[in-house]
Amino acid sequence: MKCTVCTAYCPVLQVNPLYPGPKQAGPDGERLRLKDPYFFNYALKYCMNCKRCEVACPSGVKVADLIQSARIRYDQSKPKLRDQILASTDFMGTLARPFAPIVNGVTRLSVTKAAMDAMLKIDHRRTFPKYSSRSFEFWLRRREKEQAAFTDQVAYFHGCYVNYNNPALGKDLVKVLNALGVGVQLLEKEKCCGIALITNGMSEKATRHATHNVTALRKAVVDKGLPVVTTSSSCALTIREEYPNLLGVDNADIRDSVLMATRYIFERLEKGASLNFNPDYHKKIAYHTPCHMEKMGWGVFSEKLLRMIPGVEFVQLDSACCGIAGTYGFKKENYEASQAIGTPLFEQIRAVNPDIVACDCETCKWQIEMSTGYTVLNPISILAEALVS
Ligand code: SF4
Ligand code: SF4
Repeated sequence: MKCTVCTAYCPVLQVNPLYPGPKQAGPDGERLRLKDPYFFNYALKYCMNCKRCEVACPSGVKVADLIQSARIRYDQSKPKLRDQILASTDFMGTLARPFAPIVNGVTRLSVTKAAMDAMLKIDHRRTFPKYSSRSFEFWLRRREKEQAAFTDQVAYFHGCYVNYNNPALGKDLVKVLNALGVGVQLLEKEKCCGIALITNGMSEKATRHATHNVTALRKAVVDKGLPVVTTSSSCALTIREEYPNLLGVDNADIRDSVLMATRYIFERLEKGASLNFNPDYHKKIAYHTPCHMEKMGWGVFSEKLLRMIPGVEFVQLDSACCGIAGTYGFKKENYEASQAIGTPLFEQIRAVNPDIVACDCETCKWQIEMSTGYTVLNPISILAEALVS
């Protein structure tokens, strides 16, 4: 319709004059690119792939997909070493985990940050997530028998963040699902979902990850008849939408079985299951809906679960991008824009002054914690801490 609604909703366009915006970078640019790839514009790299333009478009145009597909088809530039490091979450996690205390200490030193800024262009003001010495997979493998004893079972796509940085979130999910009478299994072997590879121009590697993951998911969904849950909104969106739409990896037989854990738990409670909440749990919780959660339309499940906890005072934060968009905000050239995009959200959080900010995305958590000082927890962790232990 050429209505330009998408341009009003693009967070990057409002802070970065170098970016042409969703309408020009997406459908308008695509008409030209289809005639001649010469018209590909390298400024498309400023798109964060947040999908807010797609949520806003009244005509259902897949604006962000047009932009990301164009980058995959026409961008001839090679990913920088910095981008390869930021996108290789599995590899970096495997390397860092055995030396986690040292890595965590070193990456916090200002001299290290200055060196990374100068050599790699990773902004020195950014803080890095800590690594865990023990992976989540290691923890759950030791409990396979105990989990297999439950009548109902789910498979868990834990993602890199839970496996290498925050196994506590995976343990919280196991606690909540066990309280509902559900055991948790690992997939046969999962790889990083690939979202950071896609946005950093490494689509061939992302396609290999997608093909591998769909095969592993098929073994759980088709062979064993299990639903698959995840605690990361970006992993869920990537597996369900980006695999077929951007990478051409067919996921038709598994797509509808891959759910956010919040949706799975909510639906189970709707069918009559119950959770036993601690009556002494009292918290003011402000919920931030991650952009990819908005795209899936599933923020409502997190909200409803948090509202079920009797002692929770729930505040829904305004729809807004936090500005980090995975690895985007780590890059020196994007840091200022990243913080400017997130400022209205940070200011609202300070005004609400909650005990906890709730959010289903790990990188939103890093951005909000770094920029506001408030603690951010996944709704699953809040459910787990509110249960009678
Ligand atoms: S995906 Fe986000 S950053 Fe990219 S054009 Fe759409 S709204 Fe803008
Ligand atoms: S892509 Fe959608 S929102 Fe953007 S101008 Fe076209 S019709 Fe309007």
